[in-house]
Amino acid sequence: MRVRAALILLALALPLAAPAQQPPPSPRAPEGAAPAGQRRATPRCYRAIRLRDEDLRRNAGRIDGDRALCVSLVAIYEGGRTWRFSIVRNLLAPDRLALVVLHDDEDTAFDTGLEAVQVYGGTLVALDTGGQRTNEGQDPNHNFGGAASLVAPCRRMRDGPSPEFTAEILRHFGPDAPVLSLHNNHDGHAATGGAGDFSVAVNAPGRRGLAAPGPARGLADPDNAILIPGRVPYDQDRAAQGAVAYFHRHGINVIHEWVTPGRNDCSLSNHVALTRRTPYYNVEVQHGAAAEQGRMLGALMRWLGIAPLQ
Ligand SMILES: [Zn+2]
Repeated sequence: MRVRAALILLALALPLAAPAQQPPPSPRAPEGAAPAGQRRATPRCYRAIRLRDEDLRRNAGRIDGDRALCVSLVAIYEGGRTWRFSIVRNLLAPDRLALVVLHDDEDTAFDTGLEAVQVYGGTLVALDTGGQRTNEGQDPNHNFGGAASLVAPCRRMRDGPSPEFTAEILRHFGPDAPVLSLHNNHDGHAATGGAGDFSVAVNAPGRRGLAAPGPARGLADPDNAILIPGRVPYDQDRAAQGAVAYFHRHGINVIHEWVTPGRNDCSLSNHVALTRRTPYYNVEVQHGAAAEQGRMLGALMRWLGIAPLQ
């Protein structure tokens, strides 16, 4: 079955290399730049201006003008749909960190991630779902989990376990690396008449808002917060408490998410908390709040001990 699946995947990957999509190899592209073990990525660096992904095209000047950046594409087929990934690596230090942008309608998050990869090195992994939040009805951030027992409680996972999708994203994170993600949201929270579903001012089930006591200028918006999951309630989560103390000193809101197997929603935060021993951080701001997201991510990098590349 794996051989057959691989053939299907190869066939699906081919349209990416069709004439309309395929750019000529970039003159700066080092052959064989893809990391060892990368199975379905195009093995060379593409020019962003020639690709279909609107995030890459919007940032083409920046990407194609930076000789350190390498864009590659991956496509997999699973659960009755094709998942496409755009990957931007900083070849100066591609394994230094990894960031994932799951929602293709969150442009600010992509731009923040791209800037971070330029400044800090590392790899940005972004879903390309044609600019939509979902892919044929499936929210990518409720599509994590490779085992039926793990994903059983996930009402928003439509087509069962997703071992290929899950592995394709998590392979970018080393066994000891924190999982970092970037999101955007809409103003306010539906529970209080707003448009969004993420706010430090609202305690959703399992989520505890921890507003910074003295929010830094521009960061007071309750839609701007770093989400940290844990396997125990916040009062018992010493690691999270240490991080919250640090972020609060920098005026940054935090939301703690208490994750349990029975409450698993197959989001990346839940999946990491349930299956890995590394921390997870989601730096989330309201759509368009690029400066705020950059400042929050900078504070997170200092917390993680990751300095800008020299
Ligand atoms: Zn999102």
